[in-house]
Amino acid sequence: MKWLFLPAKPDFVPDKITLLPDNIANQIAAGEVIQRPASAVKELLENAVDAGATEIRLIISDAGKALVQVIDNGSGMSETDARMCFERHATSKIRQIEDLFHIRTMGFRGEALASIAAVAQVELKTKRAEDSTGTFIEVDNSMVRRQEPVAIPDGTSIAMKNLFFNVPARRNFLKSNAAEMRHILDEFTRVAMSFPEIHFSLTANNQQLFHLEAGSLKQRIVQLLGSNYNAKLVTVKEETDYLNIYGFVGKPDTAKKTRGDQYFFVNNRFIRSAYLNHAVMNAYQQMIPAESYPMYVLFIDLDPAVVDVNVHPTKQEIKFEDEKIIYAFVQAAVKHALAQFSVTPTLDFNLDASIQHLPSIQQPFTDEKKTAVAAGSIFRGFTQKNQAHLIEPGEGSREFGDGSLVTGVGRREFNAPIASQPSSPGTASSPFSAETEISQLLNTYICLPWQNGFLLLHQQSAHERVLYEQMQAASKERPVATQRSMFPSTMELTPADAAIMEEIMEDLKYLGYIIEPFGQHTYVIQGTPADVEAGNDKHIIDILLEQYKHFSPEVKFSRREKLIRSLARQQSIKAGTRLTEREMRQLVQDLFACAAPNITPDGNPTFLEFKKEQLERMFGR
Ligand code: ADP
Ligand code: MG
Repeated sequence: MKWLFLPAKPDFVPDKITLLPDNIANQIAAGEVIQRPASAVKELLENAVDAGATEIRLIISDAGKALVQVIDNGSGMSETDARMCFERHATSKIRQIEDLFHIRTMGFRGEALASIAAVAQVELKTKRAEDSTGTFIEVDNSMVRRQEPVAIPDGTSIAMKNLFFNVPARRNFLKSNAAEMRHILDEFTRVAMSFPEIHFSLTANNQQLFHLEAGSLKQRIVQLLGSNYNAKLVTVKEETDYLNIYGFVGKPDTAKKTRGDQYFFVNNRFIRSAYLNHAVMNAYQQMIPAESYPMYVLFIDLDPAVVDVNVHPTKQEIKFEDEKIIYAFVQAAVKHALAQFSVTPTLDFNLDASIQHLPSIQQPFTDEKKTAVAAGSIFRGFTQKNQAHLIEPGEGSREFGDGSLVTGVGRREFNAPIASQPSSPGTASSPFSAETEISQLLNTYICLPWQNGFLLLHQQSAHERVLYEQMQAASKERPVATQRSMFPSTMELTPADAAIMEEIMEDLKYLGYIIEPFGQHTYVIQGTPADVEAGNDKHIIDILLEQYKHFSPEVKFSRREKLIRSLARQQSIKAGTRLTEREMRQLVQDLFACAAPNITPDGNPTFLEFKKEQLERMFGR
């Protein structure tokens, strides 16, 4: 009963948290907030940021399945607030509808802690600077189990233990530790990137993965994404009355083969936007090869009244009042940056002209305008769909754990005016004999007669299908033959890539790659498939990791499936490669020996069929 002897409370400081009235609560984009350990990581880190912390520690064990803990030195909570914070719609961040248009905090819905407390065991310790003692509260299944005073430093520690302990079905949907860890690293990276002035650390299973001292954005980027970006960042910085943009883009030679290091933050919130991504890609036009992806970390700051962050449960998608301006602005700012650093000396372009002439930028942002905005798109954003407790599609679907593929998954309809896909010319009806004429066009297509017309194969797509089926067979039957390297090379990976490596190492072995751990985040490539050219094994693994990431959002694929797809894509003969007649014949033969010769693993056609009568018709015959 030690709390009977506590010193009297010093000067009264009011509690902060209130329950949102129903009319506001009902307008908030509700959703399943906690889907996996990484969702809790995001919410808890954001709460610590909102609490004004200057130092935030994240502690993980068992990929967050056993523990996600965030310790901060922020404002802390009063005893009453410490109990209140677990109520649904309990928040200190908004009070009235108008507040929704001035949101500067990461959170505002008052849902995260309630959601966490519903699906895990939670221990909260918190203390305000103005209080002499802190509060300890234990909650699980949404019930307070214990509460007592505790002596702790100012700030808050929230530990979420045994996620989904009371919802075994959801616990079973969690992925491998490596996969869940990767999600955690993604969330950690996004928050840490957005607040370089805050000291962050991440410890997983007692191993410190990150220790990020407060510093500049550039330092933070290099710490998080790797020092190879060090001399490769170009500053972006433009300011107008309507919005500011700042950050860095990678010099064109840092562009990667798959989408990777690309970050947009709007008012410090990480967002996904295919539209704005397109704006950046546009700025790089003709500076980077097709199908490569430049690095960027861009912050867009603008009046919260012209963005709606309330359209998506995890707030990763937002709506701009006027997307077109933002697009033009992003594109212009990136072009300008690239030009200024004489990355593209010939670029004939003037930022001020193209930006300052945009109508919305010329018009001052008046109060009338603000009111109009509030009455417009943002209110319209509160649609019915956002009210339901929705689980994002795909999240609940199961992986095919055995590596099997449901044929046709992801198959895309395509529109070819005169061409059509032959049903499925299997081996039996193979169009092919040693005498058939065969020719290559544009170093990309293979043309051969077929029935009453001809087929046009895409060599890269066709080869991708062939390799894909060969590797699938190999991974099911017996491992691919490996050649041991005489001089094994070592690779040092970023923590995020190392997490992927841990995930795929076993499966890689089946496909002929022997990779062994060699100290923290370092791996030795001991062997590669016998038919892979010696010497560039490191490069191959690099690309593999890149491509593997590219597939990661696609939950429907098993690990092995993703790996095989990446390898097939990587090792396929590229468009633009000249082929000998023998190679062409081999490829055609291999293709029609496939189970599904007419599509790539992604569902694109591997060949098109042109019928003579269609051609005749087109010639008016
Ligand atoms: P929201 O962040 O949307 O307000 P949460 O459920 O995440 O909702 O948190 C509820 C409330 O609990 C917050 O509004 C804040 O007042 C308080 N809170 C949560 N985490 C912390 C923290 N680390 N430090 C101080 N207060 C916190
Ligand atoms: Mg929150």
